Amino acid sequence: MQNRLIKKTGDEISPLGFGAMRLPLKNGKINRELARKQIYHAIDNGINFIDTAYLYGDSEKFLGEILQGEYRDRVMISTKMPSIHIKKYEDMENALNEQLDRLKRDYIDYYLIHSVDLKAMNRLLKRGLIEFLNKARSEGKIKHIGFSYHGPREEFEIVLDGYDWDVVMVQYNYFDENVQASMEGIEYAASKGMGVFVMEPLKGGILAGKMPSEAEKIFRDADSNRSNAEWALRWVLNNRNVTCVFSGMNSIEQIDENIAIARKTAPMSMSFEELETVELVKRVLRNSLKINCSTCGYCMPCPRGVNIPECLKIYNEKYLFEHKGLINESLIDYFQYVGGVMGKPGNAGQCNGCGKCLRKCPQKLDIIEELKTVRKEFEFPGFKYFVSFIRYIGFPLYKYILKILNRL
Ligand code: SF4
Ligand code: SF4
Repeated sequence: MQNRLIKKTGDEISPLGFGAMRLPLKNGKINRELARKQIYHAIDNGINFIDTAYLYGDSEKFLGEILQGEYRDRVMISTKMPSIHIKKYEDMENALNEQLDRLKRDYIDYYLIHSVDLKAMNRLLKRGLIEFLNKARSEGKIKHIGFSYHGPREEFEIVLDGYDWDVVMVQYNYFDENVQASMEGIEYAASKGMGVFVMEPLKGGILAGKMPSEAEKIFRDADSNRSNAEWALRWVLNNRNVTCVFSGMNSIEQIDENIAIARKTAPMSMSFEELETVELVKRVLRNSLKINCSTCGYCMPCPRGVNIPECLKIYNEKYLFEHKGLINESLIDYFQYVGGVMGKPGNAGQCNGCGKCLRKCPQKLDIIEELKTVRKEFEFPGFKYFVSFIRYIGFPLYKYILKILNRL
């Protein structure tokens, strides 16, 4: 793999990183033997960057245990501050010290503020975030600093310009090219010399799985040997402003496949025809949408906090990708991204019909009616209390319980 340079830090990072959020499990706990084998295999084959977070359960502690001896200095680590737990200045210091302890390291290579938008960032700034980051860096506990972003497009650059960040982590894939940070935001971050880390390159696996038959045909006609996952991963890696892509990898075969893709995908290496193929598939996917929302975000912000594009997107995906069953992937996404399980709630049920969004929508959608449909699809009596319960037990445990229920 041809490593990619972060201009601001001088670090050369493998274009494929190892995301340690969904490590293999056994009886509800990390399958340490299997996960260790996978991570060593990834490092032995050129991956030099691992991403984790305080909120990824036992992940930091596990990495601290296995990244010792010969593997200690062969890999850089990014981990993330649990921003939702920060109530006062001391919470930041305590979290960092605990993370260093868990990871068994004197310093963290890349320390990211986890899952912020402008409001979350302002809240942390009031609690002394800048003072904390500067102090931690001067004490040598953190080498480089960044944030992972989950906010609307129009706030991204405000957050980006708010501090001298080294790196940013964003959601980016060919289907969501224009949501959250978007292609332009990524370009802006890179123009500042920052590293750009990408999460969800396969949209949580959706772009690697089954697609409408027309889309499958376009991909197979273009290259019968290339999987949907390869098309999606190559599209992200083709962007020269992307430094490192974190894709969930659950087996040695998957690691090898992704490494092989990363090896053959230099920046700007896709041909015009290949990019056109991806565009055609994207168009098919968009045409299968129930609601003609382009996720442009022009309707935002909503005074009631409804995340309109995300609500409509999740609803569309349920039908586009035929997520069936009582507990399906779209329902999990709804809880996670707009329900309030991981951040502030932006669910459709909060809409009071004020109509402020209507005239801003270039597609002239009846957003109020569409949100009613979304609410009917995903929300139920006691929805708010159920979300509080999930927050209480923790999202990873909730997802695990759902998996078990789905198997019954
Ligand atoms: S109509 Fe609903 S979604 Fe639109 S701005 Fe008002 S509260 Fe928000
Ligand atoms: S509802 Fe309209 S304005 Fe809002 S994201 Fe969708 S297309 Fe854009």
